[in-house]
Amino acid sequence: MSALLRVENLRVRFRTMGPLKALATGTKAPFFDAVCGVTFEIDKGETLALVGESGSGKSTIARTIIGLQRAVSGSINFDGQEIEDITGADRKPYLRRMAMTFQDPVGSLSPRLTVRSLLMEPFRIHQLKDRDAGAEAARLLRLVGLPDDFARRYPHQLSGGQARRVGIARALALNPDLIIADEPTAGLDVSVQGEVLNLLARLQDKLGMAILIITHNLNVVRHMTDRMAIMYLGRFIEVGSTERIFEHPCHPYTEALLAANPEPDPDAVLNRIELKGEVPSLMRRPSGCEFHTRCRYAQDICSRVFPEPSINSDDTKHSFRCHLPLGRREADPPLEQRLHLQLHQLPR
Ligand code: SF4
Repeated sequence: MSALLRVENLRVRFRTMGPLKALATGTKAPFFDAVCGVTFEIDKGETLALVGESGSGKSTIARTIIGLQRAVSGSINFDGQEIEDITGADRKPYLRRMAMTFQDPVGSLSPRLTVRSLLMEPFRIHQLKDRDAGAEAARLLRLVGLPDDFARRYPHQLSGGQARRVGIARALALNPDLIIADEPTAGLDVSVQGEVLNLLARLQDKLGMAILIITHNLNVVRHMTDRMAIMYLGRFIEVGSTERIFEHPCHPYTEALLAANPEPDPDAVLNRIELKGEVPSLMRRPSGCEFHTRCRYAQDICSRVFPEPSINSDDTKHSFRCHLPLGRREADPPLEQRLHLQLHQLPR
């Protein structure tokens, strides 16, 4: 089965200053890479999570897929069609098959429009005018479990959970094949978070769309997703099935994230792992493994050799970037022997 969305070697770069200022100040590289050669795919009906701290590049990937940001290199293939090179109106037929729900449930809805107008916006944008607005709004509101009379309300008359449902209804307006949900539970009470996640799961069962979830909330990941990709400084550092990674993380950063996740069981024994220091600046990336400045297992080699992706021999769909993956240290041959293929990368 071919993937619905395939992103390959995606690189997104931001400027830190304009070309004139760079010339005047003698700055040779007035930019930084927010996303560095990321590759992944999503099948029809599948749910993938991009996980990481803020600034890790996950929202930039989402914005690039829906055309709000351009990549400097790489490809985005949607249902067999390369779309990264397609711009402007020519991209509309593909964008019609994708939709995004945004982080701020109320702020992402225009305060001057009624819910009915908000729900009809996608039809207007894509020039699908021969619609009965009342009937479409009622259909979409029912889909997300809101009464028909919500169509007359304005965003300020909605609670956070209701606004989130309206955002989901608007995303579903054109029956997309892919929904990108940016922090779907941000700003919601825990009980409302559960309702929203259950709603998304029910809608996915009913309508069969794929979902790309952008989040730092690991409870959302565990509840909702088939696979997950952990991001650090714009790279994937671990990718695999959600179940596998929760049970057997290989990367120390993943281990620390999982250990920091709030545990719903009050009797559970907590094993917190404190990460050293702050996330490094994207403009001054550490040498070798970019996580070595915060990793409690770091050895000398880690600051010198950049870890290429390795495949887990127990699960070929599970990959990670680490010289000393968790759970494999004793079974493996000595470190220098494992790294002999990489030693040529050491600075001379
Ligand atoms: Fe830690 Fe070294 Fe693995 Fe990087 S390569 S995550 S520093 S053990």
